[in-house]
Amino acid sequence: MRVFLARHHGFCSGVKQAVELAEKVAQEARETGGTVWTLGPLIHNRRVVAGLEALGVRTATALDDIPPGDTLILPSHGAPPVFYEQAEARGLKVVDATCPLVRKVQKTARELRERGYDLVLVGEPQHTEVEGVVGWAGGDGVRVIETVDEARALPAMGKAAVVSQTTQRPEDVRRIADVVREKSGEVRLRPTLCPVTSDRQKEARELAERVDVLIVVGGRESANTRRLVDVGREMGRRVHQVENYEEIDPSWFRPGDVVGVAAGTSTPDWITEEVVARMKEIEPNTEPEETKKVAAPPEASPERGATSPAGPEGPAEPGNGPAPEGGPSSPDGDGEKAVSQENALTVPGTFEPGARVTGTVVKVSPTEALLDIGHKSEAVMPLSEISRQKISSPEEVLKEGQVVEALVVRLDDEGHPILSRKRIEEEEAWKRLAEARDQNLTIEAPVTALVKGGLVANVGTRGFIPASQVGLGFIQDLSQYVGRTLKVKVLEVDRGERKVILSEKQHLEEEQSRAKEELLGSLTEGETRTGEVRRVADYGAFVDIGGIDGLLHVSEMSWRRVKDPREIVKEGDRVEVRVLKVDRERGRVSLGLKQVEGDPWADVPKRFPVGSLVSGKVVSVADFGAFVELDDGVEGLVHVSQLSDKRVGHPSDLVKVGDELRVKVLKVNPAERRISLSARGAEEEMDRREIRKFLRDANEGAAVTIGDLVGDVFRDAGLGERKNAGSRKKN
Ligand code: SF4
Repeated sequence: MRVFLARHHGFCSGVKQAVELAEKVAQEARETGGTVWTLGPLIHNRRVVAGLEALGVRTATALDDIPPGDTLILPSHGAPPVFYEQAEARGLKVVDATCPLVRKVQKTARELRERGYDLVLVGEPQHTEVEGVVGWAGGDGVRVIETVDEARALPAMGKAAVVSQTTQRPEDVRRIADVVREKSGEVRLRPTLCPVTSDRQKEARELAERVDVLIVVGGRESANTRRLVDVGREMGRRVHQVENYEEIDPSWFRPGDVVGVAAGTSTPDWITEEVVARMKEIEPNTEPEETKKVAAPPEASPERGATSPAGPEGPAEPGNGPAPEGGPSSPDGDGEKAVSQENALTVPGTFEPGARVTGTVVKVSPTEALLDIGHKSEAVMPLSEISRQKISSPEEVLKEGQVVEALVVRLDDEGHPILSRKRIEEEEAWKRLAEARDQNLTIEAPVTALVKGGLVANVGTRGFIPASQVGLGFIQDLSQYVGRTLKVKVLEVDRGERKVILSEKQHLEEEQSRAKEELLGSLTEGETRTGEVRRVADYGAFVDIGGIDGLLHVSEMSWRRVKDPREIVKEGDRVEVRVLKVDRERGRVSLGLKQVEGDPWADVPKRFPVGSLVSGKVVSVADFGAFVELDDGVEGLVHVSQLSDKRVGHPSDLVKVGDELRVKVLKVNPAERRISLSARGAEEEMDRREIRKFLRDANEGAAVTIGDLVGDVFRDAGLGERKNAGSRKKN
């Protein structure tokens, strides 16, 4: 029995990070005396969870089971925001082990909902990752479906977006997106698949292609492990899922079976290795041939995200694509040797139509090239089959001695193989495009023509960029794009129909969102930034500070009262703003304008000392008094009892907004931004000053009658008649 072990096995980086974090927190808790909890198992692997329990990590079934003050680790598949709130309210210390890729799904879902899209989330409704994403998207307007039939049952939607649970199969998501597209005016497919799980599915498929039995190692609750099982079953293989070696039943295998072993992302290496060791016991001669031994590219990681290291940004020319068949992606693990053996099997020394051969160019003429492919006679490659590019002579591409791969198209009447290099190029281009679509890679697309409804680009084959997918807004004149190379995402690849749909818009949106994330990460509260006012609303203005529209609330525009933000700013204004608050989780930034201008309260005690008489304008009238503006952004309160020395029913009986009022400063509290004023006190002070002046004048011999003095004394005692409050003047 031959056993092939999938090249990639062991924890993915998201799970690895969660387990290591849990071990670290458990260690710290042992030193400090706290208790560490997870809500449900941290990952879908019983033996790993049991190992964590041995370190003191306990598993609760509800938040209420966890005593306040203890530590809660949130799992790699995330949790809805309400969890964080409830945990905080309960006084728990939260350690967040959410995988960055899952966080990306949460964020994408929330942003799409905020932008008004009906969200179709492809995933398992009961899975905690899906519950978390629904929570982040706000719940309403999110439809969770798993199948194409469920997609068909959806109602018509105006603007829809499709996102997916990280572990879904790319082809399922695509099929569902196709159905959603028919039901909505506008549909946005935001691939949120985890490249690690996609890679493992792809590898399982490659493995299943050449084995009789596929053993999938992983927890039964693990969604990504189930996907691997599905892949094997769909390919008609005998598939058995095991959680550990003890579950392996020797009766599953027949003599001469070739067996493949693949593992889910929450299965540690050592469990898979135990499974392989058990297989050896079943048939002692079994030697696992780890495809890992081949010089393999690193497995995708959350850090790598969805960018291909194999040149997705490179020119869309053949040869830039993935490794050739039988190379690192082959499960035969012995590098070049394995490749040649494999070729010997698939092309057993024949040159039949469809065979892929390698040959050396022996002669180049103006109309064809002759190649030595090991056949009894030389093979012919006609000019038309040499390249996808327009060439007028084979010499533009081929030279004698060059080794090239080609496809046998047919045999001529004399039995000479007729070759095509062009078809290999096409083959690879389609393969690369499908990969770019599945892994949400960005590729380069040289635009070759303007056609009705959009642009045509050469991406190894003809690609179409609909007008709505060019740029970020409506573009009047698309002809400016011809001759340029755009960075695009691949939306659709249908080889049967020879259809490739590309989108520059989706690439730009992702760039924008990446830039936004970077900016969010670099912002510090308290710093000053320059921005441009994008939009003014009744409650404030949105200021673009380089990729993020921060909210400048009306209350932060000026130290004085502002009724309408338009009094202060208008669209297009360049403004200096202070960063007041950065909410990285929700991607929101609060800005202030008044803070940049300086605080008018800083020297209020000096400018308006207690006892001084000042004038101001009434800016509002309340039941308890009137507010008087003494300077821009500095207001004081004249309490109703300080408005007049007479009994006042309501302040509005005496003053109204806009009145000029002379007041006396009674109290200044800069910390609380309060000034107490008195109109009555101001009048009394005026009177006192008059008397003092009068007496001074009298002493200097001025004529004063006793009646004048008596009248003033009565007035000081509050017995005199007074028609106006304070020294109110009409405006
Ligand atoms: Fe692992 Fe991918 Fe899941 Fe993250 S999203 S935990 S990397 S499988």
